[in-house]
This record gives sequence, structure tokens and C-alpha cells, in this order.
Amino acid sequence: MAEFTMELNEEQREVRDWLHGFAADVIRPAAAEWDEREETPWPVIQEAAKVGIYSLDFYAQQYFDPTGLGIPMAMEELFWGDAGIALSIVGTGLAAVGVLANGTEEQIGTWIPQMYGDANDVKVAAFCSSEPDAGSDVASMRTRAVYDEAKDEWVLNGTKTWATNGGIANVHVVVAVVDAELGSKGHASFIVPPNTPGLSQGQKFKKHGIRASHTAEVVLEDVRVPGSCLLGGKEKLDERLARARERAKAGGERVKNAAMATFEASRPAVGAMAVGTARAAYEVALDYAKTREQFGRPIIDNQGVAFQLADMRTSVDAARLLVWRASWMAINGKPFTAAEGSQSKLFASETAKKVTAQALQILGGNGYTREYPVERMHRDSAIYTIFEGTSEIQRLVIARTVSGMSIR
Ligand SMILES: Cc1cc2nc3c(=O)[nH]c(=O)nc-3n(C[C@H](O)[C@H](O)[C@H](O)COP(=O)(O)OP(=O)(O)OC[C@H]3O[C@@H](n4cnc5c(N)ncnc54)[C@H](O)[C@@H]3O)c2cc1C
Repeated sequence: MAEFTMELNEEQREVRDWLHGFAADVIRPAAAEWDEREETPWPVIQEAAKVGIYSLDFYAQQYFDPTGLGIPMAMEELFWGDAGIALSIVGTGLAAVGVLANGTEEQIGTWIPQMYGDANDVKVAAFCSSEPDAGSDVASMRTRAVYDEAKDEWVLNGTKTWATNGGIANVHVVVAVVDAELGSKGHASFIVPPNTPGLSQGQKFKKHGIRASHTAEVVLEDVRVPGSCLLGGKEKLDERLARARERAKAGGERVKNAAMATFEASRPAVGAMAVGTARAAYEVALDYAKTREQFGRPIIDNQGVAFQLADMRTSVDAARLLVWRASWMAINGKPFTAAEGSQSKLFASETAKKVTAQALQILGGNGYTREYPVERMHRDSAIYTIFEGTSEIQRLVIARTVSGMSIR
């Protein structure tokens, strides 16, 4: 019974140190430039592909780490380097999870390699669920997928928004309505293969933070994809829809839908990204407070500053523990009876916002300029309480789970 340990094993420590080296030597030095350019940092993604960080193999190795800590550890280190660049590197992984969670083995084998490309010709992928009128309220999604039985093809029409890598992706994973009567239970996920006619990029957004990561609308006009592009296959979809119709008739017991399954699997990973940004800002602030002198002594010599740093470190460590717990539960198939995945995302993302704001304050005027990285980290941190479900939605999920009531 002495199995419980809070320590990473030797292999995990090696991977963590290797990732940290890449984050410190390659990502961090490029961060300010790509933030200003507001463009996908292709050379950095290529560099990551060359050393094996941007690859299916690496992602799968971390994803299937039996302790569950592979992905959170990787996210924390890369996002410690820089959030915008790191999201450009791991955005494809978020789309790949959609395929891993809902796809058949054949779909996983066919499409995930095309999401990454190879080191000489890197590609990215996008996961497209959100729409202009369907953000938190996923059930009000309008993008339709209609089956053309004669041709065994699905025809997709609609507009997606906020898609990370949307329009520049080689492979798009698109969530669409197949049965409007069933609300979010009538959704399914589709692969849109490279160069499919009818898919185009709409507006590219200019953002507050994570500016190196490409975010855009994706327009789908009579996009035809083969039947084999329905994730999980038609038989499984028909069974799932039949069960949902039965439940709807019987009074509406809740069932998981394709998009929710993807979000559930990726929430602790987003928490880990937030831990990376928070830790980075805390470290800059700690160094600064020890060297910056006012009134003849380092500013950390004031309890007002030192206690803030103590609180910042405590929050970062607490956030990591919640992320690790949820990740361990996920890989071990433990039921999330208190929405522990959402708890980890909620706490870590709020921590990142708070800690980066404290760091900015500790750096004073310097914190407010682009001469120091906390200004960027502070802007970047705001995304964590918004994407993959806002903080309010995480609280809703947690409150509903622990109470068993449909709190609104
Ligand atoms: C940079 C970026 C990248 C993104 N990447 C992707 C991506 O790759 N793929 C993708 O599909 N989506 C992506 N998103 C979309 C993201 O997941 C949504 O923005 C998010 O789900 C919130 O939806 P919304 O923006 O429509 O806000 P809304 O749902 O309109 O919410 C507005 C406000 O109302 C609050 N609110 C809403 N409903 C409730 C409620 N019931 N109770 C209390 N408060 C509530 C929200 O918490 C929020 O504060 C991305 C977004 C951004 C900004």
C-alpha cells in the first residue's frame, strides 16, 4: 500500500527537464517577437517538430502515461515558456483529443498524422465547436450536417467562430447538429480533410493576449465529406441518437455529447497551461523583488511584498495539485463525482489571472511595459477563464455535480 507518491518518476523528470530546456532556450526568447507579429510562429513549431515535441508520438506518449501526469507536466513547461507560442504548438493536440476521444482506430490512424505533418512540412489542426450564437450554450449550435445516403456523404453548412488554427489547419474537426430535436445530444463530430471545397477562413481575430496563436472564423458552405469522416461511424451515431430519443421520451436523463466529452478530457490540461503562465510570472516577480531596491533595501524586505509572493507560490502549487489529481483520476477512470476536472480548470485559471496581476504590481512601472514579460503574461492569462468553458460555466458544472440539481 506504499504506492502513493507525490514525486515524478525518473523518466517523467527527464521529459520535464527536456521540455523546460526547449521552453527556456527556444520558446521564451521568441515570445515577444511573435506576440507583436500576431502570427503563427511556424519556425518555432518546426523546431519543436525537429526535436520531437510537435508529433503524434510525443503527444500519445504523454497522453497514455499511466500516472496521468504526462500531459499536465508538458503543458506546464511549454506554457511557462510562452502561452501564445505554446498554444500554437499544442493547439493541434486539442483537436487530436477530439479524434482520440470519439474516433475509430482507423480514423485515429488516418487523420492524426495528417494533423501534424512532419518535421519538413509541419501542419496544424483545428477543433471547431463554438459559433457566434453558441459559446457557453453549446446546445444552440446551428451548423448542420445532413446525410446524403445515395453518395454516403455528409453535407456541412454553418459558421464556426473562435477556432484556434481555424482556416490554416490541414485537418478541421467540426461539431455539427445531426438531429436538431435532441439539442446538444443531437451533435456529432466530423473530420474535414485537407483542401475540402466549401471550407474557408472568415475573420482572423486581433486579440488581447496569446497573440501568436491564430484564432479565426471558419465558414462551411456545402462542405461534402465522405461517410467515413463521421467520428465514431454511422452505426454508433444511430445507436446513440436512438438512445437519446428514448431518454427524451422517458423524460430526459442527461447523456454526454461529443463536444462535452472532448471538453471534459481537455479541462485539466487547460488548467496545467494556466499553472505554467502563473509560475512564470511568479518567478519573474520573485527575482525582481529580491533585486529591486527602494528605501535602501530590496522590496521583498517589506512584508507587503513578501507575503504576496508567499500567497502567489501557494496558489500556484495548489492549482498544480488540483490539476494532477484530475489528470490522475481521468487516466484511472475514476468518476468525477465532484467535477474535479472543472475544479482544476477553474482554480488554475483564476490563479493565473490573479498571480500575473500581482506580479505586474510587484514590478511597478516596469511591469506595465513590454520590456518585461509579465505584461504579456498578464494579457495571456485572461484567456484561461474564457476558453474550454468560462469560470462561470465551470462553477455551474461543479455546483450541478455536487448538488445533483439543475442549477441555472
Ligand atoms: C482565443 C480563443 C480561442 C478559442 N479556441 C476555440 C477553439 O479552438 N474551438 C472552439 O470551439 N472554441 C474556441 N474558443 C471559444 C471559447 O470556448 C468560447 O469563447 C467560450 O466557450 C465562451 O463562449 P462565448 O465567447 O460565446 O461567451 P458567452 O457564452 O456569450 O458568455 C459571455 C459571458 O456570460 C457568462 N455566462 C454565459 N452563460 C452563463 C450562465 N449560464 N451562468 C453564468 N454565466 C454565464 C460567461 O461565463 C461569460 O462571462 C476560443 C475562444 C477564444 C477567445
